[in-house]
Amino acid sequence: MTDSQRREIERHLEDTLSALRLQDRTGSDQDMYCADENEFASRLSELRMNVALQARIRKQIRAVEEALHRIDVADFGICAECGEDIPVQRLKITPTATLCVHCQQERDSAPRPAGMMHPTMGLSA
Ligand SMILES: [Zn+2]
Repeated sequence: MTDSQRREIERHLEDTLSALRLQDRTGSDQDMYCADENEFASRLSELRMNVALQARIRKQIRAVEEALHRIDVADFGICAECGEDIPVQRLKITPTATLCVHCQQERDSAPRPAGMMHPTMGLSA
């Protein structure tokens, strides 16, 4: 990876980070004034959804921050599984990637440990 490629990815990560931080603030100051019980219930489920969304955003923020820390060290862009270079094109799209496409695919197709939530869980026989 060249220095300019590294800088490009770094810039991309910083953009992603500021966009995520903007989202992180959205909805954090909820108006909890409630007119009646029904509204309270709908507010509550809205709030729960927000909490789940915020948790996901925070997780993404952490991943991007970690990638930003990693970008300065030598093993950035090297697959954590097989030690091969992760293609720069892949890093531009997914700067938080720690695996090459091949290893990522193998991991994705591997059976998941019980209890781990996955969107496709229960859809395939
Ligand atoms: Zn690999």
